[in-house]
Amino acid sequence: MVGSDAANVQTRAVLSDDGSHYVLTGEKKFATNAALAGMMTVMARTPVSENGTTREKVTAFLVTPDLPGFEVVKNNRSKCGIRGSWQAVLRFNQMRVPADRILGQPGKGLKVALGVLNYGRCTLSAGCVGGAKLALEMAVERARTREQFGRPIGQFHLVKEMIARMAETTFAMDALTTSPRGWWTATPGTSCWRPHFQTVLLRGLWSVVDDAVQIWGGEGYMRETGLERMLPRRPHQPHRRRGHGSDDGVRRPGRHEGRRRRNSSRCCAPASTP
Ligand SMILES: Cc1cc2nc3c(=O)[nH]c(=O)nc-3n(C[C@H](O)[C@H](O)[C@H](O)COP(=O)(O)OP(=O)(O)OC[C@H]3O[C@@H](n4cnc5c(N)ncnc54)[C@H](O)[C@@H]3O)c2cc1C
Repeated sequence: MVGSDAANVQTRAVLSDDGSHYVLTGEKKFATNAALAGMMTVMARTPVSENGTTREKVTAFLVTPDLPGFEVVKNNRSKCGIRGSWQAVLRFNQMRVPADRILGQPGKGLKVALGVLNYGRCTLSAGCVGGAKLALEMAVERARTREQFGRPIGQFHLVKEMIARMAETTFAMDALTTSPRGWWTATPGTSCWRPHFQTVLLRGLWSVVDDAVQIWGGEGYMRETGLERMLPRRPHQPHRRRGHGSDDGVRRPGRHEGRRRRNSSRCCAPASTP
């Protein structure tokens, strides 16, 4: 299945004349970890008879890579982030799938697919909370131990403000995900909110990690620090605030820091400018 219009899946499966197997034909272009998997779920449209009429409906099939006609066209497409999983391109060349390999019932595959999507939204959101907690922990440790102008950077108002913002965002994200009456519990009629919650959590993670990158200064921009991997990257929101060292001190000088810089005989450049 691919595309927002999930019901309009193009891969097709037709039952053989003797009823022993389905013949699947089509291509999948984002199949997560499919080149590594021993088993995968494939959605295909199949002719289904209901009330005397035959209609094309989505059916879920359990597919293993040993089936004749299964082809991995590409193991892993290169992507902007989430590199811990692989996106394979698969092709099914009249692949023969035993008829008992249907997950659920014929024609009920869309329900299976949407259930999987909702589950994925929950796990992805929980991952955002974990990432935010780690970024906060790293930022606090850096703010305590990195000294500039003769004191730990965590004593500067701007850094404190970022940490406070990170903490409140992380707390809210955690509460949203783990609340006993949380959005992810299988309450009928609430699943339409899950994409919205996921969006909120992704934005929260972006903001928390972005602040952590600022607190780590130039080191935050180095891949080895590990912060870059936590960013839920979206093409329309590139790493926009990073140039030469931290820019927060320039962009939003706090009242006290501004006065201190003006009165100081020391260099008035922002703290981590080389
Ligand atoms: C990392 C990653 C992993 C993935 N893993 C899998 C996987 O394992 N299995 C799988 O089947 N798929 C997978 N996908 C594919 C994913 O399900 C699709 O990318 C997603 O459903 C969007 O479909 P599309 O890319 O065809 O975009 P399109 O449907 O072409 O959408 C393009 C744009 O049009 C907008 N749009 C579409 N319809 C409407 C509408 N009615 N109203 C307003 N705007 C609209 C969309 O919001 C979007 O902005 C994966 C994708 C990624 C990036």
